[in-house]
Amino acid sequence: MRLVILGAPGSGKGTQTHHIAKKYNLKHVVVGDVVKDEIRNKTSLGKILYEYTSVGKFVPSEIVIDVLDKQIKNTKGFDGFIIDTAPINMQQKDAMKNIEIDAAVWLKIVNFDVIRNRILKRLICPKCKRVTSVDENTTNHCLHCGAELEKRYDDNIETVNKRIAQYEKETLPVIESFRQEGKLIEINAERSKKEVLNEIFEKIDKFFEKSL
Ligand SMILES: [Zn+2]
Repeated sequence: MRLVILGAPGSGKGTQTHHIAKKYNLKHVVVGDVVKDEIRNKTSLGKILYEYTSVGKFVPSEIVIDVLDKQIKNTKGFDGFIIDTAPINMQQKDAMKNIEIDAAVWLKIVNFDVIRNRILKRLICPKCKRVTSVDENTTNHCLHCGAELEKRYDDNIETVNKRIAQYEKETLPVIESFRQEGKLIEINAERSKKEVLNEIFEKIDKFFEKSL
């Protein structure tokens, strides 16, 4: 199973991807994390990445794809992969044309106030990366590992609006193009995490049943 997951910021990608990866035994590839690992391990790719990220520059699509390619070639012990946070624009999608993708799961949100609200309440565990919110967890400590929860540094209204605008302009065309290829699995992501997850499992099962 070779998947990508797409959705606006705050649509719950991180959490849902974690569950999808677990259920179908997929390697969970988070582009941002992989980039950080390469830099930390000072690989040849890491050194190139550092030159961009250390000065706040966007990493060019071809390099993002190199990073992905390396991860995807190494999926021993897994039954496939799920890529989180790519492709976010058509340029990345074109650059990924040699990576075979079976389906794109789209966490669809129409009402962007839902997103604004979620992001402004979001808390992240710096240690195990789990995402929660001030509604779900009032202890300020991660329920899984005990670390003190943090807000993401860019979770404020201005950057949220900017990220939504960028998603509409650049990521929606990517979603549309997966739809035209008959590879889009559309999910109503405006409901509770559990309901969303159930719909994801149901639709993934149906999609792969059909394509067998
Ligand atoms: Zn934790």
